[in-house]
Amino acid sequence: MTNFISPSCEIITIGTELLLGQIVDTNTAYLAQELGQSGISVRFRTSVGDHLDEIMEVIRNGIHRCDMVVTTGGLGPTGDDLTREAVAGVAGVKLAFSRELMDQIEGMFQKYGYQMPENNRKQAYVPEGSRPVPNPVGTAPAFITDIDGRPVISLPGVPRELKYLMKHAIIPWLRERYHLIHNLLSYRVLKVVGLGESAVDRIMGDLMEPGKNPEVGLLASPGEIKIRIAATAADKAEADRLIEPVVSELRRRLGNKILGEADDTLESVIHQLLEKHHLSVSLLETFTGGAATRKLHGLPGKNVRQGLVSDNPADLTRLLGSFSDALDKESTLRVAARYRNEAQTEMSIVILGFPQQTGRHFSVEAHAAAVGEGIEKYFSWKMSGDLSMLQKRGGIIGLNTLRLALLEKEK
Ligand code: ATP
Repeated sequence: MTNFISPSCEIITIGTELLLGQIVDTNTAYLAQELGQSGISVRFRTSVGDHLDEIMEVIRNGIHRCDMVVTTGGLGPTGDDLTREAVAGVAGVKLAFSRELMDQIEGMFQKYGYQMPENNRKQAYVPEGSRPVPNPVGTAPAFITDIDGRPVISLPGVPRELKYLMKHAIIPWLRERYHLIHNLLSYRVLKVVGLGESAVDRIMGDLMEPGKNPEVGLLASPGEIKIRIAATAADKAEADRLIEPVVSELRRRLGNKILGEADDTLESVIHQLLEKHHLSVSLLETFTGGAATRKLHGLPGKNVRQGLVSDNPADLTRLLGSFSDALDKESTLRVAARYRNEAQTEMSIVILGFPQQTGRHFSVEAHAAAVGEGIEKYFSWKMSGDLSMLQKRGGIIGLNTLRLALLEKEK
């Protein structure tokens, strides 16, 4: 494996409106993607208000812990636009007038037939020794200041202007400066169900050392974990070549715990398996509020035939002929077989359990069983937390039992 170390970067967005939540910081997400795809490793993102000392402090931190800093905002002509002063302060230099920027700003005003207000002159000043970056789509010019060998790149806050300058000036400049021509970032995502984050970490922790190429990372949400395998390479084919052995190793270690890749979902995989084997399915859920039924009904197809959601043992007894809330493997499989019979479907999945409440805290011993002709799969687990989380996870773990049952049929 090639071991390329990407230059690290901190993104700093400047503006009190960001801290007040009056505008949503879309610039960071945009910059993170653009920089990442160019082979730059974004390590920190910071937002700061329009206060000179605080802007200086975060820039100082940024160049201390990263190879470069990119800022957005605070380049306007008004008194609360302080990025120029802050960068000059950290660099220990004065602001210097740039004729080139002044001409460009005056040109913008002339183009639109306006007299340039005097305070826009302020925008033609950049920290001494900086490289001015003219902005042909707005009046706030950008600049790049080298501080102790680390560039601080200051860009306007207006997203349209930011995007233009990134595309036409900054990315080309970064490519040259860091020889990034051959550093494309490409990645694949594997989705895992039925394992907790710490279990996944135990199984594949050795593949996740930072700085490796490809770099392997985890993103956990209730009931599902995404594994992202990202490679930096000269082109897509080389990136794929680097990623492939890691994906194979992960598949070997995690087996059927891997649900699929990027766009696969639990329900889409189940639908494919049901279609492939021409199977219909019915679902019975007690505590999950219909989470599993809702998921399966979210996709087109006629395989999902009947769903029953009830947490009342008396009703379940009436509907199924008999039902006991003393649950174990045998009784759960029995309920699944009875419900399959009742619904007249080829498969049936039941997700059973009766949460106990203590204050706002719920705990449940849950049981799931999937049955069909020659198929029988049972799983039991305990969980606690707030009710909506239990319902969500219960739906996912229950459906995963159905997926595993269908996979066994494949063998
Ligand atoms: P200009 O002088 O052209 O206004 P500027 O660099 O001074 O540019 P700001 O005044 O800080 O930029 O912000 C201008 C506008 O850009 C904000 O009112 C907001 O609409 C948008 N903006 C600023 N920062 C962000 C951000 N991080 N994410 C999304 N939008 C932003």
